[in-house]
Amino acid sequence: MNTEKAYAAYLDQQDKLADFRHEFYIPHDTIYFDGNSLGLLSKRAEQAVHDIVESWKTDAIDGWTNDDQPWYYLSEKLGAMTAPLIGAKPDEVIVTGSTTSNLHQLTASFYKPAGKKAKILADTLNFPSDIYALKSQLKLNGFDPAEYLLQVESEDGNTLETQNIINAMTDDVVFIVLPSVLYRSGQVLDMKTLTREAHKRGIPIGFDLCHSIGAMPHQLSEWGVDFAFWCTYKHLNAGPGSVAGLYVNRKHFGQEPGLAGWFSSAKEKQFDMAHVLTPAPDAGTYQIGTPHLLSAAPLLGSLEMFYEAGIDNIRQKSLELTQYLIELLERELTDYSFTIANPRDTATRGGHVNIEHPDAARICKALKADGVIPDYRRPNGIRLAPVALYNTFTDVWDTIQILKTIMIEERYKFFENERGIIA
Ligand SMILES: *Cc1c(COP(=O)(O)O)cnc(C)c1O
Repeated sequence: MNTEKAYAAYLDQQDKLADFRHEFYIPHDTIYFDGNSLGLLSKRAEQAVHDIVESWKTDAIDGWTNDDQPWYYLSEKLGAMTAPLIGAKPDEVIVTGSTTSNLHQLTASFYKPAGKKAKILADTLNFPSDIYALKSQLKLNGFDPAEYLLQVESEDGNTLETQNIINAMTDDVVFIVLPSVLYRSGQVLDMKTLTREAHKRGIPIGFDLCHSIGAMPHQLSEWGVDFAFWCTYKHLNAGPGSVAGLYVNRKHFGQEPGLAGWFSSAKEKQFDMAHVLTPAPDAGTYQIGTPHLLSAAPLLGSLEMFYEAGIDNIRQKSLELTQYLIELLERELTDYSFTIANPRDTATRGGHVNIEHPDAARICKALKADGVIPDYRRPNGIRLAPVALYNTFTDVWDTIQILKTIMIEERYKFFENERGIIA
């Protein structure tokens, strides 16, 4: 392996996606490796926000039906623009809600307990919000989560074995929710196999795509995945609190949503104001109320860039960046007790690298003080996400050198080894 800085520059020169970096606002003098928590603002996303504010200013109520970007159809349009990123049909995707509210909606719609056959299968490594949502849905249905929520254990604390998940798909399970990529270790689960096995047992299965959407391709329709949901502020760069998305396979079309509202209506019927809902014939029916247009707008600009870049190219560069990071870390920081806690192989490695160290919290603080933005995850994880659309191989090289200096000079010892309020 070539560890020279010139080699990083050479890789940057070869990079087909290099120009996209100039479309983003990169905070001054920083190397931003936190795009898996909050993606950066692009000029196109900014413009899209500006445009919708202008439309409100000039069109007022007519904005709902104006010619160029009618607000009434924006959620459907954004859904169709998202579809290629997850291998879905345009009408299987809608931009709505938040990750967690969409999970509530999908659980209310697809969790169908039948007597004692009522268990939900999840895992022990998922993001807490998903688990809270599943537990509250169980309680709403009169089931004790301690008994009715099964959580697959991890053998190594970082990853899940496909076979262990399959073994947990027992007779009493009627609903499965798993992450596509684990938020801490970045492991990609084998969604195709898990879906096939769930369906052999007649169990609907869905995935939380928060850490995979925008970072890698998916084939949800082809795999027959029943439903999925995600946020848009991580790899999709649509800004803090931007409107989320969900997918429902066409085979489920024609049902009423578990949580209905007037935006669940067929578009042409909604303004009939009838008290009997005519559900939209597609994923649009999983909407509830008026869309949050100001925080959906950035996606218009952002998704355009994903379309131009191509998700396969994004995945390829992402894997090259993380590979380069892992190799440099192993070369340059052998003496400092770092452990690479994410899977190595390209099939199961997501968009970020997760390195563990007993002093992780304060190493993160030292990195920040030196202009590198990582993110810390309890108890000892440092997540570094070099993002294909705006990070460079030189960013990776520089980060390793900065980290090396911090370790050699023990500069992390100036900080307390505790997490901040947001970390
Ligand atoms: C980021 C993330 C969430 C956050 O949920 P919100 O409702 O968007 O706040 C939920 N689940 C996973 C797996 C995440 O990574």
